[in-house]
Amino acid sequence: MPARILNGNSIRDQIYAELTQEIAALAEAGIRPGLAAVLVGENAASQIYVRNKIAACEQLGLGSWLHAPPVTVSTEEMLALVAELNECDDVDGILVQLPLPAQVDAKRVLEAVDPAKDVDGFHPVNLGRLVSGRAGLVACTPAGAMEILRRSGIALEGANAVIVGRSDIVGKPMALLLMHANATVTICHSRTRDLPGVVRRADLVVAGIGRAAMVEPDWVRPGATVIDVGINRITDVAEAERIFAKFPAKLAQFREKGSVLVGDVHPGVAEVAGAITPVPGGVGPLTIALLMSNTVKAARLRRAHAAPINAPGAVAAKP
Ligand code: NAP
Repeated sequence: MPARILNGNSIRDQIYAELTQEIAALAEAGIRPGLAAVLVGENAASQIYVRNKIAACEQLGLGSWLHAPPVTVSTEEMLALVAELNECDDVDGILVQLPLPAQVDAKRVLEAVDPAKDVDGFHPVNLGRLVSGRAGLVACTPAGAMEILRRSGIALEGANAVIVGRSDIVGKPMALLLMHANATVTICHSRTRDLPGVVRRADLVVAGIGRAAMVEPDWVRPGATVIDVGINRITDVAEAERIFAKFPAKLAQFREKGSVLVGDVHPGVAEVAGAITPVPGGVGPLTIALLMSNTVKAARLRRAHAAPINAPGAVAAKP
């Protein structure tokens, strides 16, 4: 039986509807949450990501500012810009779009961001809070994946969760969030032995690998839930024909546009899984939604000193 599709666009819309109410309540208290984005250089993908983030701010009525230092910017100049944004009371969230050019010490820059304004959740203080299950700002992509699971009623308590990928922005925070939700968590990476065998034991698979269609249908236990974080653009004809051999609509899309998006999970997994996030339209929309949510949350915590219950991205630690 085909899997239930976990539609990220409709969950994003639910979150936006909730945020709209919260933004209106903050407006009554004279607070307009604002996000400052720092985009260095001309990286085409980064430009699209930042444009989409600023468009989301505008859609929700949040303040937004774009800072675009030249690609020759130094670490010291980036630190000075971050210090200025830390000081500015109208700025609730600071987003430093990665990657930064090689001459910039990205770790130093990210660690200079005020943890109270770290809406990407990358600062060691926020990572530490996540480790110990305390409230803080959580990385947007894993927090978004948790919203999909929570709002789709996927049971996590006691579930075997297998995460493929251990990056600081996806795999590691996802593992912590799932552990706090009382799942039994296994983290896999490029040195894991018998990866298909480990994945086959999972009730929940999270793929954040960066390899197109790597998780094959016979790796997935029938009925398991699959969260596909991967976003890979296929431009090679042979690769498209191999991955989409049984998906003529996707192949037609590829032939028309010359490229097509695929996750880290093979599209055939949708025939085996119990529930699955599509690519596009799964985790992707939630990443921006959680950035908006983190910006509102940062404004509330820093300027209104109050926290609502069940805010998206909250760490649900249970004894
Ligand atoms: P990353 O930093 O490159 O990390 C990839 C992880 O996958 C690493 O831990 C790596 O293991 C593991 N890996 C690579 N090849 C493997 C293999 N053959 N077998 C097992 N594990 C392997 O990537 P990332 O930034 O986490 O991103 C992962 C994916 O998510 C990408 O497709 C990216 O585009 C996507 N993404 C999507 C969103 C969104 O909004 N939906 C946001 C962020 C990222 P090692 O640690 O051993 O090297």
